[in-house]
Amino acid sequence: MSEAYDVVVVGSGYGGAISASRLARAGLKVCLLERGDERQPGDFAESPLEGMGEVQVDWPNRRMGARNALFDFHVNSDISVLVGCGLGGTSLINANVAILPDERVWLDRKWPDAIRADRETRIAEGVERAREMLRPTPFPDAHPTPTKLQAMSRSASHMGRRSSARRSRSISRTASTTSG
Ligand SMILES: Cc1cc2nc3c(=O)[nH]c(=O)nc-3n(C[C@H](O)[C@H](O)[C@H](O)COP(=O)(O)OP(=O)(O)OC[C@H]3O[C@@H](n4cnc5c(N)ncnc54)[C@H](O)[C@@H]3O)c2cc1C
Repeated sequence: MSEAYDVVVVGSGYGGAISASRLARAGLKVCLLERGDERQPGDFAESPLEGMGEVQVDWPNRRMGARNALFDFHVNSDISVLVGCGLGGTSLINANVAILPDERVWLDRKWPDAIRADRETRIAEGVERAREMLRPTPFPDAHPTPTKLQAMSRSASHMGRRSSARRSRSISRTASTTSG
């Protein structure tokens, strides 16, 4: 560690890691702080029993589990969330699916005008840059239909809705990993 940095980034998920990388490439001296551990392939739990040791839960008045446990649940009366704890953040436990937002997402007036104005230009460039770096590939047609897709279709039909879940060509996983 040095005594001084130009920038301190807290957290190494999609947000922190990319910011730290870009700032370092721009020549700034960057310190990236991460509360969790660095995990290598082979360090991950391989059974539900092993996985139980990688769970931490935070309720309003108590907590359970090691503070560096990978699966970090925050349980509250209104919103509860699961996040990842480790170098890489929630990407360590996410499904590794890369999908462009539905057109309707952009129609929401909640987006600041400045962001909507950049949609066709800087945002489109960013998407292209992410595509080049992540190299997502379509979910192979020859693979069995994912269980979660079947579950979503069943849920939709129980609600009397036609499922919009599908094996879209735009749903993709990066070629180099097998998480999810
Ligand atoms: C089960 C699940 C599946 C998902 N599947 C997908 C998917 O398929 N595709 C997709 O695009 N997105 C998916 N997501 C969403 C995606 O993972 C998140 O949107 C993304 O990881 C958020 O990035 P972030 O940098 O904002 O936060 P995070 O990735 O959560 O990173 C935050 C980081 O900060 C660290 N941190 C927190 N507090 C401190 C502190 N005080 N000091 C130091 N470090 C700290 C944490 O340990 C963590 O590393 C999924 C999410 C979940 C939970």
